[in-house]
Amino acid sequence: MTKLRLTILQLYPDEMNIYGDWGNTLTLIKRAEWHGFEVQHIDYNPGDDFPSDVDIIIGGGGQDSGQLKVRDDLQKIAPKLQQLAASGTPMLMICGMYQLFGRFFKTSTGEILEGIEIFNAETHAGPERMIGNVIIESKKFGDIVGYENHSGQTFIDHGSTPLGRVVRGAGNNGKDESEGLIENNVIGTYLHGSLLPKNPQIADFLIEQAVLKKYGEFTPKIVDDHFAEKAREIAKKRPR
Ligand code: GLN
Repeated sequence: MTKLRLTILQLYPDEMNIYGDWGNTLTLIKRAEWHGFEVQHIDYNPGDDFPSDVDIIIGGGGQDSGQLKVRDDLQKIAPKLQQLAASGTPMLMICGMYQLFGRFFKTSTGEILEGIEIFNAETHAGPERMIGNVIIESKKFGDIVGYENHSGQTFIDHGSTPLGRVVRGAGNNGKDESEGLIENNVIGTYLHGSLLPKNPQIADFLIEQAVLKKYGEFTPKIVDDHFAEKAREIAKKRPR
């Protein structure tokens, strides 16, 4: 029997990809295979043609300088990304790319990096870096564990849904206990780590949404997650 295919697109793997973010793409590839799909993985770099057939989009974190390098290209592909987001394409954007999916990121020198407004949120560089292990509680996904390192403080608009509530760590801004944002099937979060190996429930959500959108039904396979469970337990016990 020929396998159904899923295409995963990674945005800016050279500029926006730190603290293990690449592990998110690897996890999606592996889990989609374990659920019975054939996976095609495409890197999207500045200047590339945007592929016509994409099922899941991933973006990682980076330095402010990395964000500066991709900003113009991101504006160029914004209409495509906005249209895919509105039509339910699942996406995961970590840290620096999360910031650029909002209205703007204002850097410590006052420069405005305009975002692509998929998220109703804005980010302002803050006086100190928020660094360390994080636990958040999410209605949709249960406990989520990860690691943050950012100075940008993100404020999400009233009416937007955070990914979760901070149990340990700073989250969006260190002030209002919110962490991340979810809009349609697009998730933004500060959690590196990598996020998905330790939080397979989020990986399977992205895969499920992609499969439902493309093929109409999804029958998950049973995946042995005892290593992921162990990693979660240990992550929860780590000091901040
Ligand atoms: N430059 C951003 C900040 O520090 C993003 C950092 C990151 O992606 N880890 O806020």
